[in-house]
Amino acid sequence: MITTNIQIAAYIFSSILFILSLSGLASQETAKKGVIYGIIGMVIAIMATVFGENIQGYTYIIVAMIIASIIGIIVARKVEMTSMPQLIALLHSFVGMAAVLVGFGTFIDPHTFEMTGAEKSIHLVEIYIGIFIGAITFTGSVIAWGKLTENISGKPFVYAGKDIVNVVLLLASVVLGVLFVGADSSDGMMYLGIMTAIAAFFGIIMVMAIGGADMPVVISMLNSLSGWTAAASGFMLGNDLLIVTGALVGSSGAILSIIMCNAMNRSFFAVISGGFGQEIKTGKKLEGKVNSITHEEAAEILNEAQSVVIVPGYGMAVAKAQYPVHDMVEKLRKKGKTVLFGIHPVAGRLPGHMNVLLAEANVPYDIVLEMDEVNPDMPETDVTLVIGANDTVNPGAQEDPSSPIYGMPVVEVWKAKRVIVMKRSMAVGYAGVENPLFYKENAAMLYGDAKDSVEKINSNLK
Ligand code: NDP
Repeated sequence: MITTNIQIAAYIFSSILFILSLSGLASQETAKKGVIYGIIGMVIAIMATVFGENIQGYTYIIVAMIIASIIGIIVARKVEMTSMPQLIALLHSFVGMAAVLVGFGTFIDPHTFEMTGAEKSIHLVEIYIGIFIGAITFTGSVIAWGKLTENISGKPFVYAGKDIVNVVLLLASVVLGVLFVGADSSDGMMYLGIMTAIAAFFGIIMVMAIGGADMPVVISMLNSLSGWTAAASGFMLGNDLLIVTGALVGSSGAILSIIMCNAMNRSFFAVISGGFGQEIKTGKKLEGKVNSITHEEAAEILNEAQSVVIVPGYGMAVAKAQYPVHDMVEKLRKKGKTVLFGIHPVAGRLPGHMNVLLAEANVPYDIVLEMDEVNPDMPETDVTLVIGANDTVNPGAQEDPSSPIYGMPVVEVWKAKRVIVMKRSMAVGYAGVENPLFYKENAAMLYGDAKDSVEKINSNLK
């Protein structure tokens, strides 16, 4: 058992470690250190909480920690890199669920009704807001998990009158909140129950209404919400560390959401309101001739090129093609060719996905450039090699105002002299949008699994 003063000191130390962890995670070179700071901070935080004053039921706590740790280890070992976003969405849903349970638990705690006056009102508002955000986070994250695992269609789902229903329900939540704060315990429970159902519905409808290409923003927004949810739990439990860590996660998630929105030229409000008041676009139907080439021809084109820009996407991650891609880059650079990577901010399925994969395969950092850095050089580039990317290289984003991704910045691969697109078929990408790139005269499809294709090209490079 430790005293409250030692617990406060431990919480401050953990908070500092969490801040160092976040700043470490900001760059690839310091990311490992950042993770270690986070682990130490979390171990100290758990110990300081578990051994704090007035904690009882150690058997339950220890059994729960052992079971949760075993599940955590198994899941972390089994999860594929490409499945990380859905795992993160699932973990966010747990934070939401925890806040709802903490809220109801705090409400039925006899101490709540021993309070009087402003203290009681403030505590009830904390409970109400905590459960409201928690329930949205819970159901929103479950739907995001469903969309990312493709158990739920990635297409935006909206119904007539959605916006009006949302506004009415939001107003109803405010009215219920006022009634809740002034009610006794049994009426209070009823208001809380109705509001929880409304918030759960909000979470579902908000994420269901969001289309494929906007999903990265939803994930970072749910990340932010889970942080604010944890902070709300901190207020309900009177735990300062939860408030600090919740605010850290909440604000960093909000900053990431805004960065993602800017990168995709979307307004944050338009995304989180699920296209409030906007009609759904479907894009032009495409037809025309599609060129395709063999691995030998692709190798020949690369042999002749002087400058090559490689644009990887989700398909490179699925195929685990980063290792042969590294070998290909080495071969081409040895022949004196300029090889660069052009990385779209939402390529793959999680922020920084491509950078992580390329770092894993030891591709030098200095040739991995961002979309804005490679786009101006595209017209002077001999060949762009698109490896499993689709939405992030879709010219419809610039050329077709009826496209759902119109206005989203993309890597302008078609402006190079030649484009080789490696994928298995003509299938659409995550946003479900047809890609006019495949019909461009200077583009050629190289069908097949990306890893297999790159290996075959490597064996044909002189
Ligand atoms: P896309 O999802 O648009 O396309 C990937 C392409 O890879 C598919 O069209 C598929 O075509 C191809 N592919 C799949 N497996 C293989 C394989 N084994 N070998 C070769 N090709 C393969 O990828 P992008 O990276 O261009 O775009 C990312 C999309 O994901 C964007 O819409 C983004 O908004 C969204 N998103 C991004 C998140 C993030 O944080 N980065 C999070 C959630 C969503 P085929 O089946 O024909 O092979």
